[in-house]
Amino acid sequence: PTGVQLVNDPFLNKGTAFTKEERIALGLRGLLPPRINTMEEQVERVMGNYYSKTSDLEKYIFLIALLDRNQTLFYRVLADNLEEMLPIIYTPTVGEACREYVHIFRRPRGIFVSANNKGHFSEILRNWPNRNVKVIVITDGERILGLGDLGVAGMGIPVGKLSLYIACAGIHPSLCLPVTIDVGTNNCELQTDPLYFGMQHQRIRGDEYDSLIEEFIMAVRDNFPSALIQFEDFGNVNAFRLLQKYKDRICMFNDDIQGTASVALAGLYAVMRMNSTELTDQKILFLGAGEAGTGIGDLIVSAMQAEGLSQEDARRKCWFYDSKGLVVKDREHLAEHKLPYAHEHKYICDFEEAVKELRPTAIIGVSGTAGGFTRSIISEMAKINEKPIIFALSNPTSNAECTAKEAYLWSEGRAVFASGSPFEPVHLFGKTFYPGQGNNAYIFPGVGLGVVTTKSRHVTEEMFLEAARTLASQVSEDDFSCGNIYPPLRNIRDVSARIALRVAEIAYDQGLAEVLRPDDLDDFIRSRMYEPVYKNYV
Ligand code: NAP
Ligand code: MN
Repeated sequence: PTGVQLVNDPFLNKGTAFTKEERIALGLRGLLPPRINTMEEQVERVMGNYYSKTSDLEKYIFLIALLDRNQTLFYRVLADNLEEMLPIIYTPTVGEACREYVHIFRRPRGIFVSANNKGHFSEILRNWPNRNVKVIVITDGERILGLGDLGVAGMGIPVGKLSLYIACAGIHPSLCLPVTIDVGTNNCELQTDPLYFGMQHQRIRGDEYDSLIEEFIMAVRDNFPSALIQFEDFGNVNAFRLLQKYKDRICMFNDDIQGTASVALAGLYAVMRMNSTELTDQKILFLGAGEAGTGIGDLIVSAMQAEGLSQEDARRKCWFYDSKGLVVKDREHLAEHKLPYAHEHKYICDFEEAVKELRPTAIIGVSGTAGGFTRSIISEMAKINEKPIIFALSNPTSNAECTAKEAYLWSEGRAVFASGSPFEPVHLFGKTFYPGQGNNAYIFPGVGLGVVTTKSRHVTEEMFLEAARTLASQVSEDDFSCGNIYPPLRNIRDVSARIALRVAEIAYDQGLAEVLRPDDLDDFIRSRMYEPVYKNYV
């Protein structure tokens, strides 16, 4: 494209940074202000505008508008200001954006497939302009963050996750495809909102639902045969089943189950390093037994098995407390994913009581509801443990089981704390604590990069285990000493490259890779990482 078309193409547009030669050769003279800006000057203008926005939602809208105009500049700004912008482009602000999606909507991003178009999914994917898609993030909007059913308004999540693949691991933007599948919504508000743009009826379930997902998977196979599919924010009733059904058939994973598990395990590994203790000596009590909780449990069990414990003994180190109380053997109608953890024990329906009875070394909050870790629970943990491990992973920030300050204050500054959404540093007891964020963005971009560069046929549990080990190994003494059990986000591209290298090695070791093994795998991966810089067009 040339002229106005070029300026209007967000993939190619450089705005005021088109050079003199480009302006002459490509018919741009007069279409842009005369003075030529450097990218640095453009970044400065963007940041000025960004800081002038008074709310986080305004900042989100501004950044997405930049993405619509000039992709390269958007990713430059995002990659250089990740710490600052992750909470805008991802949790918590993206949650607010999804809630308001149908009202703040400017222009569509990604592909919408709808039950109304059943039988035509493959044709629909053919409408996507890029034919070389390598990473797809799909949601059906049923469990967006901890916000529940947002239907097609959940599209903000696949869009946000893919921008993290690009910014954190250098996956090329043209390889990425966000997808939302519309199967209805059980959200009454959306069902009656005249501005809602999904189907306004109850969610399709059962065989009909499964056949829609199957058709989508087949349509991906036809159009983008080697694409990795990340399942994101599906409801409990479908997430586990679809993972079991597809993990050995296609190249896919579920980030809420497996990505979360890996980042949480990395946090535990880092604590083990910090305290010179063993994973197998831990006893973990989860508040919440859903995708995140049992996903973490399952990976911890595999990690403990790798350290020599039997599966049975490893499972007995993990205890779960759900909306109905402690998960124990005698309880009836337990969902399948909870069964491995339904231990022989008396039933308890008070979480504090469960803490007193079981005396865990760690409590992990993945209930999606705020306030679960009360003062008396945290001080009880501090009574039992010299360094109680307290992870409040529920998102967004308002749903965290406790705040960072509460965890430090109520444990006399002894808690090792991490959260799902970011918390500001806490000043207490004459010390500053920098709470770590167990953000999945530490894991899935690197795993995806390793899978995509080797064309691995599957994503395996070993990859997530190894990603956790690699992430934990990147935490420095300095990070440790101020309470952070994750490396700084500014290192994330390097962390992702290291994870990708380990994942790629596993793909080769397990015979899953379809790309011939290069001599220097590390160099091979790093040289493929996208850098948001302008290309010369003449
Ligand atoms: P989910 O599958 O819906 O599971 C939620 C679990 O919490 C269920 O087991 C539910 O019990 C239980 N629960 C709900 N209210 C409870 C209460 N008051 N007391 C005790 N248990 C309660 O959701 P999920 O995917 O696991 O996600 C849970 C939370 O984790 C969300 O807020 C999500 O944002 C967060 N998350 C964080 C990260 C991260 O930090 N990196 C990653 C993924 C998810 P029943 O089984 O009885 O219904
Ligand atoms: Mn998610």
